[in-house]
Formats: sequence, structure tokens, C-alpha cells
Amino acid sequence: MRQNLSPSFEESSGLTMIPERTYQTQPPEKAEGESLRQNGSHAIKILVYHRIVKEAGKENSCKFCLHESDFRKHLEWLDRWGFTPITFEDYRVACEKQLELPHKPIILTFDDGYLDTYQVAFPLLQEFGMKAVVFVLGDRSIKTNVWDAHLKLPQAPLLSDNHILEMHEAGMEIGAHSMTHIKLTDVKEECAWEEISRARVLLEILLNAPVLSFSYPYGLVNETVKQMVASAGFVHACSVWSGPAFFGRDVYELRRIPILNSTTASKLAVRVSNLFQYYSWMRWTAGKILRKKHLGYENEVLAPPLRSVESLHHSVNAYEKFKS
Ligand SMILES: [Zn+2]
Repeated sequence: MRQNLSPSFEESSGLTMIPERTYQTQPPEKAEGESLRQNGSHAIKILVYHRIVKEAGKENSCKFCLHESDFRKHLEWLDRWGFTPITFEDYRVACEKQLELPHKPIILTFDDGYLDTYQVAFPLLQEFGMKAVVFVLGDRSIKTNVWDAHLKLPQAPLLSDNHILEMHEAGMEIGAHSMTHIKLTDVKEECAWEEISRARVLLEILLNAPVLSFSYPYGLVNETVKQMVASAGFVHACSVWSGPAFFGRDVYELRRIPILNSTTASKLAVRVSNLFQYYSWMRWTAGKILRKKHLGYENEVLAPPLRSVESLHHSVNAYEKFKS
């Protein structure tokens, strides 16, 4: 049950009308129509990309940079194997209107809103007739990935308002990635609420359209943050390493498949398999149990990347041993 419903965007008349800190105190209810799960929708996979770079060798500067040629191979592979990229908005419409989803739906997401999402990824997506969801910051004054500066990661320009508008007009879904790319689980509740709710209001003003999807910076989320995201009016929210194995079981913690610079098309093929998704979930669950048992807490932390199927099997075996 919601308490003290925050004012809707329509009721807000300007930038200063940010909803007060009045988020839900109970777990979010399922989004309307979510129970009307379409055939096979539980098997929807969500990929998360960051940067798509053109220059040779640039992908080695950061593990979240994928070279354009690899991205093209990903799209070719998805196309060849009959996957249809959809947006969360498509999914919502399908649920509400009882429409059939495509045979093999998949959701491609881009976090942070880098300029190369527009310059490199967007033209390729258009070439293949594919859609994606781009998560951008609400604070439009941030021009580069300043949140990575302390890690000595290369600074990259972010999308301008016009780029966002053009992609939105072309059918890409725009979602929110907080105001400033803060760790929502590490800050005071008042701050987290501002970061979440203000981002939605400002992006809706920019687009003049609803913004209903959210992506947690660093994939960091806990129950309080989830409730805030639900109360701010978002309908879907993406984590990275955490959340149930299958789509739709928790619309506020949608597990995604991270794409790294080492993710070739053949690795992508492994990663979108149900088995891999299930093993990833088991690995996360085992880590959660171990953290709680040995460290006294179970809050999600960034899990190390799954480097190979071997390491995956190792994790599963370790979990089996732990259980016995
Ligand atoms: Zn991010």
C-alpha cells in the first residue's frame, strides 16, 4: 500500500515541484497488467551495454567499452537467431492490451548515456531496425562520466539534450539513471529520494513524455531504494548482477546481462541462454547467503564478472557444497 502518494508529474507545474520524500513503506505491488504475463515473457533477457567505440584499440581502455565491430556482430547474431529487441514500453503495452510479444523478445539497454550511444550504436541499431533503452542522468549539466574520475577511467562525453530527443523520436526508450550517478544504497534516504524522483521529473520535462524505467547506478539496490523507485512512479527498474533469474518476477530488480569488451558474439550466445541466466542467479544467491553468514549483511555489492563457463560451474559447485 502506498502512503502519502507523491504528486504526479502532471500536478507538478515546474522544476521546483519535486515530490516530497513520501515513498512506499511496503514492497511495491506488481505493475498493472504485469500479472498478464505473455507467453514466454519470463524468458526475456536484458543486455546492458555502456560504451560502443569506433577507434581501434580503444575498447581496451575500459572493460565496459565494446568495439563497434563486435557490437555489429552482436546485432547480426541476434538478427540471425530471430531475436526481436523491444523496449520496456513495448512490454507494458503488450501487457495492457493483451498483445502477443514477438517470438524471441530481448531488451538492449545502454547505461550512462554516452555520446557514442548516439554516434556509434544508434546508427547501427537503425541499420538493423532495432530498438533499445537508453538510461541517462537527470542532471543535464553533467557532461562527462565524472563519477569515474577517481578510478582514473577515461572521461567520455555524454549525450546532449538534442541527442536524447532525436533518439526518443526515433523509437528508443529513454529511462532514468538517477540525477548524478550516485550510489543510492550508500547515501541518506532524503538524498536517494531526490536522486530518483527529480530525475524522473526533469527527464519527463525534457521529453514531454512519461519516463517509466529506471536503472540503478552501479547496479546497487536494496529494498528501500526499490520502494522509492516504485513510489517515484517508475514501472520497471534494472539492476545488473542481482534479482530473480527470470524476467518479471520482480519488476523493480530486473537482472541484466553485462556486456564487456571481451563479450564476443559467441560469448553473447552463451550469456543469453536460460541456463546461464539461471547459473548467474544461483551464483548471486550463493554470494548473498555467504555474505550474510560470514559478514553479517546481505546487501548487494558488485559481483565480479563471470569470466567463463568454467568459473560459473565452479561457483555452482561451491554453492552445492555449501548447501550440503
Ligand atoms: Zn551507470
